[in-house]
Amino acid sequence: MLYQRSSALFDEAQNYIPGGVNSPVRAFKSVGGVPVFMQSAKGAYLTDADGRTYVDYINSWGPAILGHTHEEVLRAVQQQAEKGFSFGTPTELETEIARLIVENVPNIDQIRMVSSGTEACMSAVRLARGYTGRDKIVKFEGCYHGHSDAFLIKAGSGAATFGNPNSPGVTAGTAKDTLLARYNDAEQIRDIFRHHGDAIAAVIIEPVAGNMGCVLPENNFLQHLRSLCDEYGALLIFDEVMTGFRLAFGGAQEVFGVRADLVTYGKVIGGGMPVGAFAGPKAIMEALAPKGAVYQAGTLSGNPLAMRAGLTTLQQILSTPHFFEKINKTAETLDFEIGKILNEKGIRHRINRKGSMMSVFFDVSSVASFDEAASANHALFNNFFHQLLAQGIYLPPSGYETWFISAAITEREIDQTLEAVRRFEYS
Ligand SMILES: *Cc1c(COP(=O)(O)O)cnc(C)c1O
Repeated sequence: MLYQRSSALFDEAQNYIPGGVNSPVRAFKSVGGVPVFMQSAKGAYLTDADGRTYVDYINSWGPAILGHTHEEVLRAVQQQAEKGFSFGTPTELETEIARLIVENVPNIDQIRMVSSGTEACMSAVRLARGYTGRDKIVKFEGCYHGHSDAFLIKAGSGAATFGNPNSPGVTAGTAKDTLLARYNDAEQIRDIFRHHGDAIAAVIIEPVAGNMGCVLPENNFLQHLRSLCDEYGALLIFDEVMTGFRLAFGGAQEVFGVRADLVTYGKVIGGGMPVGAFAGPKAIMEALAPKGAVYQAGTLSGNPLAMRAGLTTLQQILSTPHFFEKINKTAETLDFEIGKILNEKGIRHRINRKGSMMSVFFDVSSVASFDEAASANHALFNNFFHQLLAQGIYLPPSGYETWFISAAITEREIDQTLEAVRRFEYS
């Protein structure tokens, strides 16, 4: 049996951890079967508890953009660990990473570190509300901004996978301040502003969505949001937890040339350690405590080990010539070649891709919103997932997730992946 030890570990885990996992999508509920327990990772590869290796297309859901256990990052974290794990005081390192980010990302003057993407988005919304004095936020169906109450309204991936987009435990009072809109529907969002414009503190969006599978903004949708927010005095928040330092160093703001008022980060920014952040112009960011009145805090925020991992990762990205061109090229090759193989097999599909983020949707011809992502053939994706897994290719375990290409993927891994896709038997 391929996953013997994983099976035993999963059985044992379920005794002590709800559902056996510490984050739901890891449980393979969507694709079925037993989740694979990993024991180590290096470069492009994961090694599971049974000793099998996999080419990794999740990369810890994005953070491992350099590939796993990168030498420089490893060394930097080891050296930092010698100096202490956490002080609960300011450190020079925090200014160093803040300066590096502010100097290389458009439209931000200041950044506040937190410990997860959830915290970043939750805090950015509080800041937007405090700054504008308004209560309502707009979010898009299928976009995920972490698991804080205000966002668990049609939240994509994890939530969509389980078919309960509205979580119990979120009060009606909270839900009433979250307005829902359809991704890429320019008319609808204009309508929402016509009715609620004076009450809207912020629009929050994944500028390239990754949590309903990869879905791109179309017909200048982001520019449209920018002008609506300007017209009504609302803030535009880009949730760049996935796109930040991935589509480009300056994320979607840089790639699409659209300015956000607040930006949230996570994933790549911590290089594999638990880090999130939110950033914006001084006038808004200084409304935060201790300078301003909007409260936000964290015992382990700016933790030195996490900052060192993040800083070293970001430095590597900046100092590697053509870093983004290279990972984008890898993704482009996979996109093109997988498309070709599926066409040869007569399998109808749609591949959405922006830079090094991509998803394969089956039995649909275009996917620009959550409804369209949901209308794809997810049973076929699950079949595809398991056949590739058995051949040592580790895709995200849900058709509502995005593949993240790392810089460690070379021609060898691409060939191995394409060979597995060629062997895909579709019945
Ligand atoms: C992962 C993710 C989050 C939440 O980040 P966590 O670190 O898991 O809390 C928020 N927004 C987006 C777009 C994400 O992909």
